[in-house]
Amino acid sequence: MGIQDKIKDIEVKILSGRDLSFDEADSLIKINEACDLQALFETANRVREKFRGDRVDLCSITNAKSGNCSQDCAFCAQSSHHNTKTNTYPFVSVEEILERAKHAFNSKAHRFCIVTSGCFVDEKELQEICRVVTLIKKNFPTLKMDASLGKLTREQARSLKDAGLDRYNHNIETTESLFGQICTTHSFKDRLETIRILKEVGIEVCCGGIIGLGENDRQRIEFAFYLKELDVDCVPINFLNPVGGTPLENNKIPEPLELLKIISVFRLILPKKQIRICGGRQKNLRQYQSRIFFAGADAIIIGDYLTTKGSQPNEDLQMISDLGLRI
Ligand code: SF4
Repeated sequence: MGIQDKIKDIEVKILSGRDLSFDEADSLIKINEACDLQALFETANRVREKFRGDRVDLCSITNAKSGNCSQDCAFCAQSSHHNTKTNTYPFVSVEEILERAKHAFNSKAHRFCIVTSGCFVDEKELQEICRVVTLIKKNFPTLKMDASLGKLTREQARSLKDAGLDRYNHNIETTESLFGQICTTHSFKDRLETIRILKEVGIEVCCGGIIGLGENDRQRIEFAFYLKELDVDCVPINFLNPVGGTPLENNKIPEPLELLKIISVFRLILPKKQIRICGGRQKNLRQYQSRIFFAGADAIIIGDYLTTKGSQPNEDLQMISDLGLRI
């Protein structure tokens, strides 16, 4: 059977509610021919339409505490183990976060995520974050509230839930077999523990990672199947934007068509999940950026990233409208 017939069979299988197997995903990730890639994108697009519709979810993130992190994540501009030129600052005020939330709301973001550097959140900062989450929910009731503050205890997760937090981001970053080469100061299992706590407390889980850390095709599939097993609500996919001074500064990132293929394979492994394209979109996809939706994605980050510039929100809104999609 040719690969295009195989893609057709896979589409019928997924649209009827059955799962893609590891071997099928492995055959898809090996596709190289342009016409076969096109067939894969079309299938991923139809699966996105069936399970996620034509609405694009927009999230705006804010870096509420930057740099000086004790952890050694090899990709990260905010680690104190690396010699980067990233701007560092302590936890910003509640008023400042409120102002940034207002800007996100006016930019048409559906959700606003408060992010702090570090492996843990300290109790004083957690109290401030709970206070500002409640204030933002009161001032902008339609804006969903997310946070990404590192590892959480059960009590901390409960406090965030009580304050009104809707979703929490905690990435596993990559597959378990590569994690030890990317970070040595905490373990893959540490990250799983926080995800378990979030589920127990009833906070939605946003969990994904980064493409371009040195993983091979098989590890990319393992990573997607890991996320499937975790049954998270949203899968953020970043494409490494190599930062000078980090151990990954010279990593070679796959070409745009290869990145679109990865998005499509993730869509077919995770047909019903929100798949959000995050950092590195502009730099790595270049003129192929708008193709992410027709390759299977249904969500993006708008505005700036944590330490790098993004697009102007109105440019992304225009792109979505030009594609005939809705926000
Ligand atoms: S824990 Fe977070 S902020 Fe710290 S180095 Fe790792 S990714 Fe960066």
